[in-house]
Amino acid sequence: MNLSTYKQEEFIDFSQEENVKKLQEAFRKVEAQFGQYAPMIIDGKRVDREDTFVSINPNQPSQVIGQYPVGTPEDVDRAVEAAEKAFDSWRRVPPVDRAALCVHLANLFRKYRYELIALMVLEVGKSWEEADAEVAEGIDHFEYIAREMLRYAKGRKLHPFPGEMNEYRYYPLGVGAVISPWNYPIGISIGMISAAIVAGNTVVFKPSSDCPAISQFLMKIFEEGGLPPGVVNLVYGSGSIVGEYLARHPRIKFVGFTGSKDVGQKIALYAATLSEGQYWFKRTILELGGKNAIIVDSSADLEEAVNGIMAASFGYQGQKCSACSRAVVLEDVYDQFVSMISEKTNKMEVGPVKEHYFCGAVINKAGFDKILGYIEIGKQEGKLVAGGETLDREGYFIKPTIFVDVDEKARIAQEEIFGPVLSVIKAKDFDDALRIANNTIYGLTGGVYSKNPYHLSKAKDEFYVGNLYLNRKNTGAWIGSHPFGGYNMSGTNSKLGGPDYLLNYLQSKTIAQKVSL
Ligand code: NAD
Repeated sequence: MNLSTYKQEEFIDFSQEENVKKLQEAFRKVEAQFGQYAPMIIDGKRVDREDTFVSINPNQPSQVIGQYPVGTPEDVDRAVEAAEKAFDSWRRVPPVDRAALCVHLANLFRKYRYELIALMVLEVGKSWEEADAEVAEGIDHFEYIAREMLRYAKGRKLHPFPGEMNEYRYYPLGVGAVISPWNYPIGISIGMISAAIVAGNTVVFKPSSDCPAISQFLMKIFEEGGLPPGVVNLVYGSGSIVGEYLARHPRIKFVGFTGSKDVGQKIALYAATLSEGQYWFKRTILELGGKNAIIVDSSADLEEAVNGIMAASFGYQGQKCSACSRAVVLEDVYDQFVSMISEKTNKMEVGPVKEHYFCGAVINKAGFDKILGYIEIGKQEGKLVAGGETLDREGYFIKPTIFVDVDEKARIAQEEIFGPVLSVIKAKDFDDALRIANNTIYGLTGGVYSKNPYHLSKAKDEFYVGNLYLNRKNTGAWIGSHPFGGYNMSGTNSKLGGPDYLLNYLQSKTIAQKVSL
């Protein structure tokens, strides 16, 4: 394996008839399996529970994807035990072999690419293109982290010390928890799992209850790829019971968590609280929510800005941590911007993503109700110029929604809504726009549309976000090119998909050995 050969996976071109046919075939294949029961997987064995929950298609809630056991704290105990047992041998597998296995797993993702896309369209409501981009991201994670492991396996060079041979080596941490959200059931889960296991750790994986079928598919790929039993253990269950028990577990060494700010805060607290029998500080890798802004200044190409902001605000129905939810627009182009974006947004079509709509349903009833609640608040806090409505059909559909003349301190301008709702805020000048953009508790992504080099340069230093995008949309991170992680309450800045990420899952050891002269 050569470090220089990492290459990002290309996307599928769905304007080609043959690719559409392959996807239709994949829909048929995965739908033929729907409705079945699938277990948890601990130490490579099936684990069932009488108590079950179902996963449904948010674009057609009457369609049941599958049925799954509700895990319990005892299942977490068993999974931690299995992961401990597996750690003893997995940590001794040479890093190059763990890396090679990751590349093999990437190839299995390629083999199942269309089925994974179909399942994501149906289980979490991604458009074809968004689902494909995410499968490609999963492949990239494996390919990238494998090469990163080879780099870290060489250790670091130290300053020479007379009479000694000194080394700096990296070792895995041990058993960890990976707790992931539903909105990137492959990208985020594989991002955390691949880094954890390539480093030699073993994992208890607790995915969101909105994507159990996709998590099951990931386990199938791990098994087919020859990952030893116990290296990744799948436990289903509620966040507040199973998730909390896992994050508090005295025998885990780290928690890789991606999700909301509120839960992330709790995880930080659980991990910081020593349990009986625990004699180490748990590491937390927390990547959380955002209230991301894009600034549009007077020199910007307004057409480009409008298109970029619409894609970033309404792609995957605004359910991306990186999504743009605030457009901060300078007053001299404000009216023109508002008229352009509202006209275009009002023409956007919404419908079932399986039928190749760009905008489909939001994830579930709770999310749907929460977003509609914010739309009601928005009607008090701003002027509705697009959307604000649902579709009169089965499914959790909400039209792309825009409020203008929103105060920077309004709730819809401060709180993460996690749906297709954009607030437009007027700024006096560029400094005012930057101040407004920075004025939330978050700091995940940000963007600027401008042709003014002074403004762009100022944004590089003063826009307080972990991921800044200039003259392009602020969503869509390519592994290796756009390492991802936020500031402030958006997380611990772990930079998934970047050169420092693997360090989160490793500990270093220095070895000083006296040499006889
Ligand atoms: P969530 O916080 O509700 O749940 C995330 C995971 O945590 C789920 O597996 C859930 O079961 C579990 N969980 C819930 N309560 C828990 C508890 N008390 N203890 C332990 N685990 C618990 O988030 P979600 O709705 O699944 O995902 C959406 C959120 O994730 C948004 O806020 C979004 O911005 C964020 N997100 C952030 C990133 C990023 O990279 N920064 C990426 C994707 C999503």
